[in-house]
Amino acid sequence: MNRPNEQRLLKMDKRVEAVNMDDWAQLQQLQNHFLQLNQAFFEGLNDRPVASHKKCLKEDEQHLNQPKILENGVGIDALIQHIHDDIFPGLSASRGGRYWGFVTGGATPVATFADWLVSSLDQNVSKGGDSIATDIERLALRALCEVFELPSHFTGTFTTGATAANFLAAICARQFAGHQQNINVAQDGLGHLSLEVFSATPHASMIKSLRLAGIGQKAVTYVSTIDGSEKMDVEALASALSRSQATSKCVIASAGTVTGTDFDDIMAIARLCQEYNAWLHVDAAFGLFERLVTEPPYQTQGIELADSITLDCHKWLNVPYDCGVYLTRHPRHLYDSCHVPAPYLIQDGEEPDFMSLGMENSRRFRGLPVYLSILAYGKAGIRAGVKNNIDLSQALAAWLDRCEHFELLHPCRLNVVVFRPLLPKEGECDQEKKLDDVCNAFLQKLNQDGRVFMTPGQWQGKTCIRAALSNWGTTQDDLTIAQQALMDTIEKMKIRGSGFAS
Ligand SMILES: *Cc1c(COP(=O)(O)O)cnc(C)c1O
Repeated sequence: MNRPNEQRLLKMDKRVEAVNMDDWAQLQQLQNHFLQLNQAFFEGLNDRPVASHKKCLKEDEQHLNQPKILENGVGIDALIQHIHDDIFPGLSASRGGRYWGFVTGGATPVATFADWLVSSLDQNVSKGGDSIATDIERLALRALCEVFELPSHFTGTFTTGATAANFLAAICARQFAGHQQNINVAQDGLGHLSLEVFSATPHASMIKSLRLAGIGQKAVTYVSTIDGSEKMDVEALASALSRSQATSKCVIASAGTVTGTDFDDIMAIARLCQEYNAWLHVDAAFGLFERLVTEPPYQTQGIELADSITLDCHKWLNVPYDCGVYLTRHPRHLYDSCHVPAPYLIQDGEEPDFMSLGMENSRRFRGLPVYLSILAYGKAGIRAGVKNNIDLSQALAAWLDRCEHFELLHPCRLNVVVFRPLLPKEGECDQEKKLDDVCNAFLQKLNQDGRVFMTPGQWQGKTCIRAALSNWGTTQDDLTIAQQALMDTIEKMKIRGSGFAS
């Protein structure tokens, strides 16, 4: 590593020739090399720190910044070596079983390799007529509706994630409101559009989407929640709607809030939306999966009455990044907003092209990993992964609840565990402020340890730690390792006898 890099790379590269794009013998070689890299990453996954704290390549690792290399490229060996030596050490094991931050899925084997194929096949699903890819995407959307027992009037498109799906919801709500007010927003802009948005605990990405859509953050009226939860108080919504001076209304319901995993009463909200002619969007990014593991009535009961739904596939469906879904029963509004009038494009028959149903024109064959995952594992396979996560989350919650060093802040009902470390009894101050500081310091230490990764949150005004289990591969062993890491971190933070260092 002490040698200047350019030399190191060139020395490794005996051919001192760049990778040849059209040499098929090299293609085989490249494939083998990448397979080996892949194998090495998978094999080391269990021992890899769950979060890497390496910020960026050190200067002596930034080979590509060398002018000569930038101009000429390097050979295969050097390239592979660079990935292995310089990039791999900085990657996290976020696809592994102990990354419990945010709501992060892993990637099942079939979904992983299906996603490889997406790159190899390099199909563009912007328009139909030249490939079966668009048909497969439509099948994938149908299959998702089947799996989640959603009526067939829902259609839509694959997106990069739930944020992009929420953005399409904002666009549609905007177009719908315009329709009510004789304004064609897509044609004429927002003008004097009068639209009020009601929500109790919207995901941050929903607020971002309202900003992006020109509706603006201030259009949101926050509806109060039912005590001790993040669930919308429907009576408060009813009175907010009745007080509203806005010509058009949109309600954003949550099916699975990210901390409390609370579900709004969609059935009751849908009735109000019908009464007030309001657009109902349900952000069910991961909450919709609840229906796989319970009997009706589901917590998402009534979602079939929604005008639009957000779903994430790179969370609980465990397909690789990036993949979300936007579904609506009013494709007209989506089409009116996103339609691309381009005469040179081939028409695909009756159904609108995907480029007229979403943000992108060109995009990857994102539906393939979803389609093949459902085919390969079936609803039963997906259900088993979800059930396993819920069981392990509840086991973790029960353990934390029993353990004197932690406080479980909320009963675990799905896959998110909300807790904080406790100050020792003999600690002289027990104010919330001190608890918040200890919580933050504890989480930082825990994540530095590298055995498990969690993210911070707020629960009813208290700083908390969230452990969200959404990876198909998480096992009882992972739970045991995480518990050990939690206890070790408690030990590390104890100041002899008297309290915690923060
Ligand atoms: C994760 C999440 C989002 C944002 O999803 P991305 O896929 O990260 O864009 C939106 N809403 C909810 C409820 C989520 O859990």
